[in-house]
Formats: sequence, C-alpha cells, structure tokens
Amino acid sequence: MNPQNIRNIAIIAHVDHGKTTLVDAMLKQARIFRENQQVADRVMDSNDLERERGITILSKNTSITYKGVKINIVDTPGHADFGGEVERVMNMVDGVLLLVDSVEGPMPQTKFVLRQALERGLKAIVVVNKIDRPNARPDFVVDTTFDLFVDLGADEEQADFPVIYTNALTGQSGLEPGEMTDNLEPLFEQILDTLPSPDVETEGPTQMQATLMGYDDYKGKIVIGRLNSGSIEKNQNVLHILSDGTQKPLKVAQVFTHQGLGRVEVERATAGDIIALTGLGNVGIGDTITDPEDPRPLPPIKVEEPTLRIT
Ligand code: GDP
Repeated sequence: MNPQNIRNIAIIAHVDHGKTTLVDAMLKQARIFRENQQVADRVMDSNDLERERGITILSKNTSITYKGVKINIVDTPGHADFGGEVERVMNMVDGVLLLVDSVEGPMPQTKFVLRQALERGLKAIVVVNKIDRPNARPDFVVDTTFDLFVDLGADEEQADFPVIYTNALTGQSGLEPGEMTDNLEPLFEQILDTLPSPDVETEGPTQMQATLMGYDDYKGKIVIGRLNSGSIEKNQNVLHILSDGTQKPLKVAQVFTHQGLGRVEVERATAGDIIALTGLGNVGIGDTITDPEDPRPLPPIKVEEPTLRIT
C-alpha cells in the first residue's frame, strides 16, 4: 500500500464528548461510501455489530477506508496515563482530531494529550460535536480552543486549525454550524486534505518500534507499532534489538492490520501502516524489530514505571 493512501490519526476527547459515537458513525459511513449504498441502517445489521463489538476486545484501534485511503484511528487512554502511553501513541500518528462538546468546550483532561500532540508537531482538526444541542455555543468553543492551543505553545500552522461541526448521533457534519450535510464527508475530506500521510521509507529494510502491547488468549503477546520502513511478512526472520543494544534473532508468526473494529491477518504489511505482530514473546516496549541483514535500531523510548503500586 502506498503510504500516501494512509492517514494515522488519534482522537483526543474528554469523556462523554462523543468519541465512541463519532467513530461508530465513521465506520458505518465508510462502509456506505465503499459499497456505494444509500441505506445507512442496513449497512451494519445487529449481527455484524455484535461481531465487531466482540472484536474490540482484541483491538482498541479502528480503521476505515474512505476514497481508497486507509484511516487508522489509534485509541488514546482517557484518564491516568501510566507508562507514557499517550506519548507513544503520538509517535505513531501524523495528526489528531480534537473532539470537543459544543457547549462544554475543551476540558482539562484533554489538555495533557493535546500538549503531547502539539509538542510532537502534529496537526489537528478541531471537531465541535453535539452541534445539535439547544444551547450549543460553537463560536465560544472555537475561541476557547484557540486560546488553549496558544497556551500550549502551538506554532502558527497548528493554531490555524480547521474546524468541522458534527452531530455524531445522526452522522452529520459541516464546515459551518448552519451548513450541515447528511454525512461525514466534510470530516473525511478534511482528514484527507489536512492531515499528512506517514513519512516512511517503503523501499528500506524492515524497521518498527514496539510501541504498544496487547494480549490475546490464543495468540499470546501482540506487539503493535507503525512500520517505519520496508515491509514485514508472515514467518519473516527479524532481528530484535533491545534498548540496551542486545540483539536477538526472532521469527514473526503472524502479521495483522486493522480493519473496522478488528484486526485481519495479512501475508505482508508495508511501511506506514499500523500493524500487530504475534510470535514475538520477548519483545518489550521501545524495542526495535528490524532486518537481520541491514539492522536499523531506533532510539529507545522512555517508559515510565507506574507510580502507584498495589503490593
Ligand atoms: P465518549 O465517552 O467520548 O466515547 O462519548 P460517547 O460517544 O459515549 O457519547 C456520550 C453521550 O453523548 C452518549 O449519550 C451519546 O449518545 C451522546 N452524543 C454523542 N454525540 C452526540 C451528538 O452529536 N449530539 C448529541 N445530542 N448527543 C451526542
């Protein structure tokens, strides 16, 4: 897959501002656009929905395809951030959606995550959700969001953010609160236009940093990260480089990419995509997975120990 046809994004949202509802609407509509159907309600019947919900246990991340572009939405932890997970997620994405309630505006809890995004130089689209609320005050919300960007040290380009207004419940969006379309196309178009595709080397040797860890009862440890360079295949021999420089040969078992609310196994994944690998039991956060013939270690990432321990 050409990395130009990928967008890796995170959604930053205060609890209850509508992240889950928006992602559901995006999933539903991406299917409609793909299948070129008109009838929204029939797209995801209850069996599909249940099946997909079941798979969320395996994947917190979501992926949709719009006009041939794969949009990977990486989940960000909402509250306490033990172990610097937000920082690590921000290293995998190239842009963020800052979702804010049209009445409440940005909340203190979203500030920390937004700061991390801005410090990483990421571009943001501000999504003012629940625009249907009777007491919505979109201008005030956009103004306070702008002030927050400035307070957090946004550069000129970052502070010049595009704004999309949404009703996630009905799946409507618009460039102005009074000009809503019956779909999320304005949002999808904005993601494609404003947020950059991953800056990766498709031709180079395999290189990935183990960024997030998952666990599956059947498959064991799942190592998640963005493939920075080259490609990676099922059963490929790789070199595992630890943060202290130790090198160990390993073999990838399976390669997964994200699709909808779940993960699908693929024979091969290419640079730019966010992937999940099995068979790498000893790999830890920050370690590099690379090509044994042309190893490219990545600088280790800081992993903070949780400050709270229950003994
Ligand atoms: P999350 O905690 O950010 O994932 O928020 P949810 O997606 O669970 O939404 C929180 C509540 O807000 C739910 O009751 C949703 O139905 C409601 N909600 C989400 N989006 C909208 C919207 O655009 N308009 C209105 N009126 N309600 C919404």
